[in-house]
Amino acid sequence: MQTLLYCIQLDEVQNLPGNFRRRRAFTIRIDEKRMFEIIEESKPRSVALNGPEGLLPKIQDAADHITERFGINAYVIGDTCWGSCDLNTHAADMLGADILFNVGHTVAMERFGKVVMINAYDDISFASVAEKCAMSLKEKYRSVSLLTDSQHLLELEPVKRIFEQHGYKVVMGRGRGQLRDAQVFGCEFYPAHSIQSLVDAYIFLGQSTFHAASIAMSTEKPTYMLDPYFDEFSEVNEFARGLQKRAILSIYNALDAERFAVIIGLKEGQLSRPRAMEIKNLLEKCGKKVQLIALTEITNERLQVFKGIDAFVQVACPRIGTDNHFKKPVLSVPQAMALIRLLKKEPIEDFLKAQHWL
Ligand code: SF4
Repeated sequence: MQTLLYCIQLDEVQNLPGNFRRRRAFTIRIDEKRMFEIIEESKPRSVALNGPEGLLPKIQDAADHITERFGINAYVIGDTCWGSCDLNTHAADMLGADILFNVGHTVAMERFGKVVMINAYDDISFASVAEKCAMSLKEKYRSVSLLTDSQHLLELEPVKRIFEQHGYKVVMGRGRGQLRDAQVFGCEFYPAHSIQSLVDAYIFLGQSTFHAASIAMSTEKPTYMLDPYFDEFSEVNEFARGLQKRAILSIYNALDAERFAVIIGLKEGQLSRPRAMEIKNLLEKCGKKVQLIALTEITNERLQVFKGIDAFVQVACPRIGTDNHFKKPVLSVPQAMALIRLLKKEPIEDFLKAQHWL
């Protein structure tokens, strides 16, 4: 999933409305050593690098270090890169780069063809916030599961020990596909679902309300977010209910639409023609007209260009509709399937309660 990384090395004071909060210092460390090993083994003529926007300054440094050390060109691909679904090997091919280092989206596999996934870990400690959370929740829950995103995977074990010292049973969900144990993307939650019946609550490590809220929506269990930067934890279920209401509202806003466009995302890990065809066929059976559109960046601005469309369904990334503002309804796959159920006069409860939202 989309991983937002911020690169801050000194203490920073953030001014929030009516409130000064001190952000703790941290550094993101890119595994340049692994890049160098791979270059030494493979002897590429040139390489390309990409990663999330917040990491680009560090990626620029890594590219400089590669050129200084090996005397080869290292291209920094500056396009957006939202996750391991958005690798942009096409750009690396056009540049003639033999290797594409994708930085900051740690997944279960290191290599996909010419792509090498390079770890970038945040060195901030969760010890203090985990201690506070474990102390505060111990009267409420006996068993918890820990989950996190790519950049905090190394913190899972220390946080597990803290919760165990406070008497909790800590269950770590098994990874699947690209997900490592206890890892989630913004659209995939297999480690949370596999142990659902064994735990009372989920603890998400990281400052991503959207990851944490997605876990809450997909499991409907108490979910807490540990924010190490501000040293505080919070329950996200209320926020998740708000997001869910917005998702339901979009479905109802699309109910009377006559003409739909089903958008196929052109990012390589988001291309899903079979899903698009399935939804097109189902909508047509409900009497709707459907046009197929292919797009790389699905934004409100791009969608304004298309005439005569009452509502859109996009099969690229389920977060596009929730994380952005659109003038017309833009439904994700689970929302589109719920709409089709509504059109068939069937109930739509639990439409987000799934391990994978694609
Ligand atoms: S499809 Fe969207 S939510 Fe899923 S991994 Fe890609 S960017 Fe993240």
